[in-house]
Amino acid sequence: MAYTANLGSHQQIMIANQGKQTLISLLSSTPGQQQSQSSSFTTGNWNKPPHLYQTELGFILEINSDNRQHFILIQADTNSISTITAPFLQNAILVNLQSIPDSNQNRLEFEPMQPMQPMKMGNMSMSMNPMSMKMGNMSMSMDETKTPQPTKRFCTQCGQEAKIGDRFCGSCGNKLDN
Ligand SMILES: [Zn+2]
Repeated sequence: MAYTANLGSHQQIMIANQGKQTLISLLSSTPGQQQSQSSSFTTGNWNKPPHLYQTELGFILEINSDNRQHFILIQADTNSISTITAPFLQNAILVNLQSIPDSNQNRLEFEPMQPMQPMKMGNMSMSMNPMSMKMGNMSMSMDETKTPQPTKRFCTQCGQEAKIGDRFCGSCGNKLDN
């Protein structure tokens, strides 16, 4: 079983039950940069679908498994995922979780969405394709920009081939356009 939900501001959460583990992945994507963070907790097998709530603290995931409830606090803005004791959910807003079909689940497991996972350490982050790197407020990126290939030029007067940079035709002396 796996579920996904949109947390707003380009963030997405994925929740999966693998064996006795509950795996939580937080994906955030902004143009040209993608970050992910995963945590897993031993919760046992789910006996019903999880619930996700939006609260003042952050998002709270409720897992019902074997014989107890687990609550996990997800603070999307700080990328923090941690277990908490039973919270007050009276004023919480239930977030709609979408189930991921098994076929897609397998695809996610065996074929990572991108060849290399972006890395993030403190305020330094790096991502591939195109390669870019960010440290604090300094950033660099490498992009394959094609240098324009020089094309052949011909004299408009006599048709003689002219060299790049020639200002006048070597054959008839006609002034060449740039
Ligand atoms: Zn010419």
